[in-house]
Amino acid sequence: MVIKPKVRGFICTTAHPTGCAKHVQEQIDYVKTKTTTQEGPKNVLVIGCSNGYGLASRITAAFGCKANTLGVMFEKEPSERRTASAGWYNTVALEKAAKAEGLYAESLNTDAFSAEAKDQVIAKIKENMGKVDLIVYSLGAPRRKDPVSGEVYSSTLKPIGQSVTRKNLNTDTREVSEITLEPASEEEIFNTVKVMGGEDWEMWIDALMQADVLAEGVKTTAYTYIGKELTWPIYGGATIGKAKEDLDRASKEINQKLAGALHGASFVSVLKALVTQSSSAIPVMPLYISALYKVMKEQGTHEGCIEQIFGLFTEQLYSASDLNLDNVGRIRMEDNELAANVQEKVAEIWTQVTTDNLDELTDFAGYQAEFFKLFGFGFEDVDYEADVDPVV
Ligand code: NAD
Repeated sequence: MVIKPKVRGFICTTAHPTGCAKHVQEQIDYVKTKTTTQEGPKNVLVIGCSNGYGLASRITAAFGCKANTLGVMFEKEPSERRTASAGWYNTVALEKAAKAEGLYAESLNTDAFSAEAKDQVIAKIKENMGKVDLIVYSLGAPRRKDPVSGEVYSSTLKPIGQSVTRKNLNTDTREVSEITLEPASEEEIFNTVKVMGGEDWEMWIDALMQADVLAEGVKTTAYTYIGKELTWPIYGGATIGKAKEDLDRASKEINQKLAGALHGASFVSVLKALVTQSSSAIPVMPLYISALYKVMKEQGTHEGCIEQIFGLFTEQLYSASDLNLDNVGRIRMEDNELAANVQEKVAEIWTQVTTDNLDELTDFAGYQAEFFKLFGFGFEDVDYEADVDPVV
């Protein structure tokens, strides 16, 4: 099959196996150019391991720390007529590269919110790892079936309290126009917290603790975004922000449980905004990210998933120095994004940007190139006219 990108709105419905493998290899190569002297984790569970920040976490653990990794993902398998989703191909490539280095790497394609997923993971840990010393929680999911009640909750991306009108970029048509988002109902806020809040993270840690598969000194982290004025009404102060606040609550609870006999610890890590399958679905974010990339690339402070996560591991989670936490106890990796001179420049672009000057004022070209790379497209040394087998 000759595989070309097929974009529908903010998603690409095809993925290229060779290109996805290149994307994974690029990140492996980045980690390998760095040397770490610190002790890293040895047996790592990544929940949401196949794309974006979770994939970068797994790559950092495996190729930066020589850790065995077990991953959980929710991806579409390939068939003779249809490509798999990108995360499937990423995971195939990652497992192959890890095994070539003698590392254990296995992945379960299953709904992380279910009780079955937890049972399967525990069985795999017992069989192949003994105990885990790091659990990364990196899910970006639109819905969750509660494993106890069976009820299905959907998350919404809406402001809270009042409607919000903001500039927005339609990444498909390249048009900049205003959109108005109506405020969420109480039920929509509750449902979003159910999906993207900390309840499932706590359930994972409880299940792993009960099964006695957590190592002494175990660490766990979940990822969040906070942002500033420009994105606050649609992220930090909106339904998704409420869910992210719930991660802070969950982290405190988990910390208490882990701090006892296991001498473990739990952290919420705040990461910078960048292009992933999840962020491209959030209104306003693509325009903000395009403007942010322009400013941060000009300043030489731009980072992608792998740079952020490598920094998180080496400068914070496994650094020899003390952790640098904010007043809520979170790890902050997005200082460069939130710096006043960056936010001011982004705000300036924001007031001026139109459909006509989009390419001149923002790095939409960079945004798009990264978006296509998420699906394995746009790599110079991949022959996109070649006939490839989608089933890998
Ligand atoms: P992503 O879309 O790139 O990856 C999401 C992952 O979750 C994939 O591996 C997918 O397979 C997995 N997943 C989704 N539903 C699942 C399910 N039911 N069961 C098992 N696996 C499932 O997302 P991302 O942008 O890397 O986001 C990961 C985390 O990082 C999120 O909590 C997000 O809020 C946070 N974060 C993202 C950004 C950003 O700009 N992208 C910034 C800061 C924090």
